[in-house]
This record gives sequence, structure tokens and C-alpha cells, in this order.
Amino acid sequence: MVTSRSDIGKTRLPLWAAGFVALACVAIMALAGWREWETRATELKNAEVDVTNLAHSLVQHADDTFELVDTILVGLVNRLELDGMGPDAVAKLQIYLPTRKSSDRIRGIFVYDEAGRWLAATEPVDFSKLNNSDREYFQRHRDSPDRNTLIGRPVRSRAGGQWIITASRRINHPDGSFAGVALVTIDAAYFVKFYGRFDVGPNGSASLLNNDGIMLARSHDQNGTFVGRDLSNAPLYREWNSRPAAAVYYFTSPLDGVQRLSYYQRSSRYPLMVVATKAEDEVLAPWRRAAVTRMAYVVGLTCVIAVIGFYLVRQLFQRQRMAAALAASEAHFRLLAEQSSDMVTRVGRDNRLLYVSPSCARIIGWSPDELLGTSAVAGVHPDDLERVEQTMAALRNGEAEEARFVYRQRHREKGDIWAESTLHVTRASDTGEIDGVVAVLRDMTEQKDLQDKLASQATTDGLTGLANRRHFDERLAEEWARARRDDTPLSLLLIDVDQFKKFNDHYGHQAGDGCLRALGRVLSAQAKRPADLAARYGGEEFALLLPSTDANGCAEIGERVREAMRELAMLHAQNPPSRLVTVSLGGATGMPSQVTTDCNALVAAADRALYAAKDGGRDRLAMSGQIVPWPAKRA
Ligand code: GH3
Ligand code: MG
Ligand code: MG
Repeated sequence: MVTSRSDIGKTRLPLWAAGFVALACVAIMALAGWREWETRATELKNAEVDVTNLAHSLVQHADDTFELVDTILVGLVNRLELDGMGPDAVAKLQIYLPTRKSSDRIRGIFVYDEAGRWLAATEPVDFSKLNNSDREYFQRHRDSPDRNTLIGRPVRSRAGGQWIITASRRINHPDGSFAGVALVTIDAAYFVKFYGRFDVGPNGSASLLNNDGIMLARSHDQNGTFVGRDLSNAPLYREWNSRPAAAVYYFTSPLDGVQRLSYYQRSSRYPLMVVATKAEDEVLAPWRRAAVTRMAYVVGLTCVIAVIGFYLVRQLFQRQRMAAALAASEAHFRLLAEQSSDMVTRVGRDNRLLYVSPSCARIIGWSPDELLGTSAVAGVHPDDLERVEQTMAALRNGEAEEARFVYRQRHREKGDIWAESTLHVTRASDTGEIDGVVAVLRDMTEQKDLQDKLASQATTDGLTGLANRRHFDERLAEEWARARRDDTPLSLLLIDVDQFKKFNDHYGHQAGDGCLRALGRVLSAQAKRPADLAARYGGEEFALLLPSTDANGCAEIGERVREAMRELAMLHAQNPPSRLVTVSLGGATGMPSQVTTDCNALVAAADRALYAAKDGGRDRLAMSGQIVPWPAKRA
């Protein structure tokens, strides 16, 4: 499947991954936070249960205490209303009172007349001059016909000076008018001591208040700092009517500013209320310490996840960019390969074709699909196969990085074509090991033909098809050197057409050319050995180079040439006495190994012999150093 560059560029995977990492971090933090909040709520709930239980106990205790007090007051008031408040009754009462102060909760019992004067008391003091008409509870009983027990403001005892809680009832005359007040006092310290037994923490508290919001007693209040405080302005009292009789209540204490959770409960029998509290800070302190540790771990873990996640996301981004760049360059190179007029192939280590560019159809006649997976050397001409395979093996073995060769390759329809292949090894990007070869193949048939033609033109004479002068000179030098090495003789014949100027003049230039071609054929026929070379030396002069040929052999061949020309019997009226086309030949034989001169000496000798042949009358062969006369030979 091919993924286009834009597809890769547009994928949002890294963004999704980043989102996922962020979500995971947020989720972990949120879950941890939520769990901590739940734990906090559970801690508070447990503390609420504690203060609720405590408040229930304390209100029961307060009810019991005031019931005892109430019983005494009711009995006292009944007795006074029945017996009257005459001196006898009072005297009896004075004896009776101490018997009622049976419990340690009761501080004292007092009776006042309608003017506030002390009539009887459990306190062992002289109270003949004492008057309590200034006390609030006295004034309230005097001014109100209400006959219920009044729990008043705590007061400092006239007798002992300590804080006391007062419970009082109105005494009536038989006609219903005010006759006085009966009072029972309780030591506030009694409640303080009792409340001190419950552990509500250093900043927790247990308090007893009356319905008017006056603090009657509070735990840990040995000095009486809080007793008597008016809390009627506190929210709990301001919302008195709308609030239930008992409930959990969170507040900031107006006394010390501490944030507390509490349970308050009003007495069902007396105008009292109990509030048991714990300081929220103290309740939550153990949780807070543990939570900080736990959250530190969670934050640490989240940071690790965030860092790793960030790293991975960055990797993803980079990979995406790299993939896009890779795809772009791949597309680029594919375009290059596919648009190239050359056939671009990629060959694996097993010599099979892994990729073939479409131009193969034009160059060798097969489609890429037909070639893929086939051997890379399948169409190589058998004569070139070994050379090609050797080169490929050398590349695969790392002996060379690149190679270039020209060979014959089979075309599906056209037969063999000449191809030039440029090869370059490829390496695996990760290991750097050679993993194949890229071969660029080009059809060289036309060039090769042209090249061959040029090569042959460079060495061949156009008119006769023999070797030209240049080629002759090269071969002469080569053969001279070879003969010197091999210690063999080297012979040379120079051949010149007789009276050729006149032939041209007489028969025309075209006929002259035909004559030269005929001589060329004769020379070709006589150059029988593969090493023999017939060449056009210049104009109507020819040469026959005869390696490994001695003077006799040379003369023999020269004679055969001369005779062959005569046997052609081409008319040449201007060439007496035969009136046929004849040639003169100069031959020379040398042993290069035995002389110090170069090949020019051989040519010069043959040339001299040729001159001698001409001078001797033409149509004859002269060997260097001798002249073979035509008539004699003829005879
Ligand atoms: P000789 O017997 O002394 O050799 O007399 P000759 O006339 O052959 O003298 P020479 O060798 O000097 O003649 C050269 C002539 O060869 C001149 C030119 O007209 C003729 N010739 C040289 N090359 C060609 C050629 O390619 N074609 C034709 N038709 N004639 C050529
Ligand atoms: Mg000549
Ligand atoms: Mg001539």
C-alpha cells in the first residue's frame, strides 16, 4: 500500500497521543484527589459520629442533673406553699435543707422571701443581712407568673465566689401573688470536671448552654474564662427557631476562632443545650499528613508518566516528519527512476530483480511485472555471461563499489542488443552491509554500431577495404616488436601499379579506382595467415606485411601477387610490353632480434627494392639486395 505524503503529514496520531497522555495525567490526579476528598469526608463523618454520641451522653447527663435539682425545687416550693413562710416553717426548713443536699452535684439550696431576703440556706453563713433581690432570676420570677424551673445565668457565688449555675422556682402565696424564690445552685466546676473526662482533642470542647445562649459550663475551663458568656448572637441562636433540636453543625467558634465540627442537642425537658465539638484541623490532621505523602507519590508518578509521554509523543512527531521526508524523497526518486529513459533496476543479494523501472518495456521488450523476481542476468548473451557474473559477484563481495560494462542483452523481439550497465552497490541503512546492487541499463546498440563503424573507418581504407596507412603503421611496429621478442623473421612487400598515371589518363579515374579495388582483392586473397596484413600504403601503392615469413616465403608470395595481377588480364594499352595492368614489387625481410634499427629500416629496404624493380623494367619483384628480372622469370 502506498501512503501519499499528504496522508502522512496530516495524521493526527501524535496529537491524539499527546491528548491521551494529558488525559491520563489529569485522570490520575483527579482520581487521587477524589479519593482523598472521600477519605477526608469519611474522617469528618467519623468525627461527626463521635461528637453525636458524646452530645447524646452529655445531654442525658445534664437532664439527669437538672431533674435531681428540679425534684428538690418542686418539693421545696410545695412544702413552703403548704406550710407557709412563717418563722416556724422557716426554722424547720433550715433543718430540712441540708438533708436535701445529698448529691455532690448540688452546691447549695436557698430560699428568699418576696423582698429577696434570705430565709433559709444550706450555706453555713450569717445571712440575716443578705439580699438577692438584685439577681436576675429573682427579678424574673417576681415579674412573671411562670411556675416552671428557670435555669438562669451563671453567677459568682456570694457565699464562695466561684461560678455557679442557678435553677430556681417561684413560690406563690395562696392567692397566687409572689411569695419568694427557691434556688438550687450547681458548681459549674462540676460540669467542667465531668466534661474533662471525654477526649475531644486539645481544641475540641463540650459545652452546656441554656436556651438564652448563656454558657453554663465548658470543658477545659478551669479558670471560668468562658462561663457566663452570652452567645445569643452566634448564628446557632439567631437561627434558633428554624433549626432542628439536634444536628451536626459546622462553625467557626466566636470564642476562639477555631473552625469546629459539632453536634448540638437541646434537652427535651429543660431549657438547655449541649454542644460537643472537635476542631476540624485536629480531626483532619492525620488524614492531611497521609494525603500529602500519598499525593506526593501520585504527583511524582504523574510527572514520570508526563515526561515519558512527552518523550514518546516527541518521538512520534519526529518519526512522522521523517516518514514524510522519506516518502517525499522516495516519491522523488521513484519519479526519477520511472521517468528515466534508462532502465533502472535493483538487484538483491540473490541476484533477483527487486525493482525494474517501466522503461524496461522499451529497452528489452518485457514489462516490469514479467521481470520482477527473475534473475538479473537472464537475458545476458552467453559469451558475456561469465564476465557479467564475475563483476556482479565482485560487487556483492565488496571488492568494488561500482562497475560499468557493455554487453549483449537479449531483446524480446529484436534479438541481441548492446547494453551498457552501470552498477553501484547498495547497503542496508541499519547494518551498513551490502544488500544488493542498483543497475542502470542503457541501450547502446546505435552507439555501438557507430563506434564499430568509426573504429573500422579509422583502420580501413575506404576504396579497397584493406587496412589503411595508419593501421599498417601500428601493426608494423607491433609485429616488429613481436618478431624481436620471438626471434622470428618479418617480411614486407611494397606493391606499386605500373604506369598507373597513364592508366588513369587513358581509361579514366573511375576505372583507375576499379583497378585499385581489384589489386586490393588480390592482396586480400594472398594475405592467407591470420597475422598477414594487406594495406593500402598510399595512392596506388600497397603493402603486405608478412610476420614469421623469411625472404623465400616473401618472394614466393610476391610472385604470386604479381602473377595473380597478370592473370586478371586487365587491359592497359599504355603499359608495354604486356599491355596489361601489372605491378612492381619490392620485398624485404628482416630479423628484428638481430638488428638495432627499427621497423622503418624494413620499409626503406622494401622501398629501395621497389625502386629497383621499377628501374629493372617493371612487372617484377625485387627483393632487398637482389633483382628478379621479369623476362628471366617468365622464361
Ligand atoms: P610507375 O610505373 O613509375 O609507377 O608510373 P606511375 O604512373 O604509376 O607513376 P606514379 O606511381 O607516380 O603514379 C601515381 C599515380 O597514381 C598518380 C595518380 O594519378 C594515380 N593515383 C594515385 N591514387 C589514385 C587513386 O586513388 N585512384 C586513381 N584512379 N588513381 C590514383
Ligand atoms: Mg606510385
Ligand atoms: Mg605506379
